[in-house]
Amino acid sequence: MGLNNFFCSRTTQVFEERVSMKKFLITIDGPAGSGKTTVSKLLAKRLNYKYIDTGALYRGVAFETFSQGIDPELETDLETLCDRIDLKFEITESGLRLFSNGKDISDQIRTPEISMMASRVSAKPCVRGCLLGLQKKMGQEKCAVFEGRDMGTVVFPDADVKFFMMASIKERALRRFREMGPDSSQTLEEVEQDMMKRDANDSNRDIAPLKPAPDAIKIDTTHLDIETVVNKMAQLIEAK
Ligand code: C5P
Repeated sequence: MGLNNFFCSRTTQVFEERVSMKKFLITIDGPAGSGKTTVSKLLAKRLNYKYIDTGALYRGVAFETFSQGIDPELETDLETLCDRIDLKFEITESGLRLFSNGKDISDQIRTPEISMMASRVSAKPCVRGCLLGLQKKMGQEKCAVFEGRDMGTVVFPDADVKFFMMASIKERALRRFREMGPDSSQTLEEVEQDMMKRDANDSNRDIAPLKPAPDAIKIDTTHLDIETVVNKMAQLIEAK
């Protein structure tokens, strides 16, 4: 190990120890493709904190709505589904997985149809109410990084450090398109159209719209690489 690397890892270790002792709850909000998933995972790993992807929970409700043939506009049917649904995260050999009523649905929730359905059901009061309690419970012990749309505004208004991530729509669509790989069922233009629709739904809904909390630190990742972003966030956390 070179001397520079030694100092880098030593600094990281000291940082981890100090921040871990502080038992922070960190929120990272922002639109799709802003880079929040990648940085949330890296930051949680660095701090030895829990990582919670709240978008996966909304996708879980969307998946059940879709597969049970429920019309998301029928509030009573959606309410019944919310009463019965049992969503759980589990760490397995293949990473963090989402289970719905005991079934691993982690891969099925990542399709374009479920993305759009998640955006629809997430505007419904019964869905938000049901997931609000679950998320608050998951955050009780702190030492966690929560990513979503309303983490810093509604779910954890008293979070210790709040971030809001942004990037241009072109850059966000390109990132998502690359992530989908060569077998993607959508063109880059379709990915961008879907993203704009979801942005509009998420930002204009009445309950818990996508917006930065007044005390959130805003980071535009359009021209930044992941390492720079995570280092910047780590410095800001350490300064708390
Ligand atoms: O983050 P992700 O793109 O997986 O989220 C899917 C959808 O779930 C979002 O478009 C949004 O409608 C909804 N969502 C939400 N509140 C959150 C997380 C996600 O409304 N905290």
